[in-house]
Amino acid sequence: MTDIATLGEFGLIRRLTEKLPTVNASTIVGVGDDAAVLAYGDKRTLVTSDMLLEGIHFDLVYTPLRHLGYKAAVVNFSDIYAMNGTPRQLLVNIGVGRRFSVEHLDEIYDGLRLACERYGVDLVGGDTSSSLTGLTLSLTCIGEADANDVVRRNGAQETDLICVSGDLGAAYMGLQLLEREKAVFANTEQNEMAAQPDFSGREYLLERFLKPEARRDVVAQLRTADIRPTSMIDVSDGLSSELLHLCTQSGVGCRIYEERLPIDYLTALTAEEFNMNLSTCALNGGEDYELLFTVPLTAHEKISQLEGIKEIGYITKASLGCALIGRGDAEEIPLRAQGWVHLENQD
Ligand code: ADP
Ligand code: MG
Repeated sequence: MTDIATLGEFGLIRRLTEKLPTVNASTIVGVGDDAAVLAYGDKRTLVTSDMLLEGIHFDLVYTPLRHLGYKAAVVNFSDIYAMNGTPRQLLVNIGVGRRFSVEHLDEIYDGLRLACERYGVDLVGGDTSSSLTGLTLSLTCIGEADANDVVRRNGAQETDLICVSGDLGAAYMGLQLLEREKAVFANTEQNEMAAQPDFSGREYLLERFLKPEARRDVVAQLRTADIRPTSMIDVSDGLSSELLHLCTQSGVGCRIYEERLPIDYLTALTAEEFNMNLSTCALNGGEDYELLFTVPLTAHEKISQLEGIKEIGYITKASLGCALIGRGDAEEIPLRAQGWVHLENQD
């Protein structure tokens, strides 16, 4: 028997899906992008699924159920925006164990409803089942785009600029803070005063992890500025990993500059406190849900005028590989892929 860890997440998906035939002309893009692309009439339908498992993707010790519902919806919307589309409908499948009450599920739905309301999405169905293990949430989102608007992972061209929205590594540092407080709490003796976690001043980091937003605004900004990305992906597993997906699928290489990685001040402060390498956090932290995309070199002028979008590097030919250029042009460090840790190939 082969241990799943020997393949890693992406190796596993590749193996499971490489022999899948496509028999319908309406299937334009199958496995391999942020969402599948289906053709019915002039419009393109975008479909994406994400599963969240208790103990793997979330820890109920520090995750409010409302936030969980909100995040579950938003990460699906993010995949639709990453195709340059608009999310429209959501289906929600829930597996729930005995320790959950009706009120608990109400809270999850409060979060789901809020996300749907904010992003203009209709919750149109799903499935509910009892579960012997923890809580499972599996969501499917349906979106739409004009045929010409769909942006895939495979369109990056040599000399294109690499851009990323917002800042990176904040959600990961938020998770570190929550994990630290959880450990402190577990070690507090019963007779001691209950330790109150002190997150004051770090709310931004917690929010980035517990209640992320999908970058609908970035997609709108690009459209208004008449910039069509040549390739795009959302940053769920970490910048390195996503950039490698773009480059592999586009058949190109890349260079990004360490000093241009967008990092919030609080992220830097907290990384230092935890004795973590800041760039590693920004490159591999994940769960940022920012948009990573490429544009032609000629879009540089327009891009530089957009608020909250940063050029971090450029696309090269494939033979040059994918690397990070250290501070002061010091050295080139090859980029490494990282999927979810529990499926990670440790080699
Ligand atoms: P994302 O991080 O954008 O959600 P994933 O890395 O989860 O994307 O998935 C990459 C691609 O593999 C997607 O096209 C997804 O639909 C597909 N995929 C993932 N798991 C499976 C599976 N078990 N069977 C078929 N396709 C899958
Ligand atoms: Mg994605």
